[in-house]
Amino acid sequence: QKRRFETTAAESTKSSTGRVILVTGTAGFVGYHCAKFFKKRGDGVLGLDNFNPYYPVGIKYDRAQDLEDSGVYTIKADLNDRSMLDHILQEYKVTHVLALAAQAGVRYATKDPASYVASNVAGFVQLLEACRFCDPQPRIVYASSSSVYGLNTVSPFSESHQVDKPASLYAATKKANEMIAHTYHHIYGLSMTGLRFFTVYGPWGRPDMFAFSATIKIHKGEALKIFQGPGGSELERDFTYIDDIVQGCVASVDRIPASTKETAHFKVYNLGNKDPVTVTYMIECLERAIGKKAIKNYVPMPPTGDVLKTSADVSLAEKELDYKPTTSLQDGINKFIAWYDAYYKDGLTKEMASYVFIRVPAMF
Ligand code: NAD
Repeated sequence: QKRRFETTAAESTKSSTGRVILVTGTAGFVGYHCAKFFKKRGDGVLGLDNFNPYYPVGIKYDRAQDLEDSGVYTIKADLNDRSMLDHILQEYKVTHVLALAAQAGVRYATKDPASYVASNVAGFVQLLEACRFCDPQPRIVYASSSSVYGLNTVSPFSESHQVDKPASLYAATKKANEMIAHTYHHIYGLSMTGLRFFTVYGPWGRPDMFAFSATIKIHKGEALKIFQGPGGSELERDFTYIDDIVQGCVASVDRIPASTKETAHFKVYNLGNKDPVTVTYMIECLERAIGKKAIKNYVPMPPTGDVLKTSADVSLAEKELDYKPTTSLQDGINKFIAWYDAYYKDGLTKEMASYVFIRVPAMF
């Protein structure tokens, strides 16, 4: 088992660009896409994921298998496994870390708050600790979230706005990531870029998120629960297509300067679509792509967790990262539905296969 791991990881980290990137969360949605992009352009890439069962793990094993077929190996390990992190960073001379592994989801934070602290706070600190003892220190890009804007009412959200009113524990842990990153930057000279993603969707997306769960319900003819704000107002989201998010992640990795005390860098950017739409409009896009009407059930939004509107001001990322979201919601949804149809054509077989065969070996 150990020999297989070493051989596969060595192959996975072979680089023709000088970059060796550890991507955490590669069995997850965003990590899968970023790792695939890096590998394709010649970077050495190694994945790490604990395959947590927050949503059905079948799709996680399928993502990891698909990545392995493209030459990216995902180590099954937890961020809190510090000796594993030390081993990976040093043995494979990791130059960059794209830290995406986290307990995601706003609403689940009311059910299992401890999992957010364990992964997003304790696990994140373990990762930074491992990085700070490397020589040279890897440059770190990490996922924050639009949720840090919380109960802010000034729209669109800009990085210069105060973010001190989180609406969920998830948001608080993402804000904590930014504060911890800032601390490691100024006391240990780590170069860190935080990215506030705005509601990402697309192929291989998360089954717990609206685009995916609504698609399943429309297919089954089940009613969609749609949250409304005070006075029947509609929730709005700045839905952002995965390829645009990948573009922002890649630009951040490519532009982050090396970590030395003199040149250390600390930045936070919004990555959104700068085009917020109502959830009802999102459903109309899904209906057009699927060719079937949704059954809509409007209900008051829960008292905690959700916010009325998210809207990204991306001018800083445009200026400093050449970030340009280019995918309209309808185009992105069409691509998502095309993937969904292909994935679920033999979906049951695939899901079952993921459970039966342990495709990603447990670590030594
Ligand atoms: P995801 O849940 O699909 O992926 C996260 C992965 O991290 C999962 O596969 C999970 O198994 C893994 N993980 C969790 N805790 C871990 C731990 N302790 N050790 C090792 N692996 C662990 O989520 P995603 O949508 O790909 O999100 C990626 C990142 O972007 C997360 O940090 C998330 O908070 C952030 N984000 C996502 C969105 C979005 O719309 N998808 C929006 C804002 C922020």
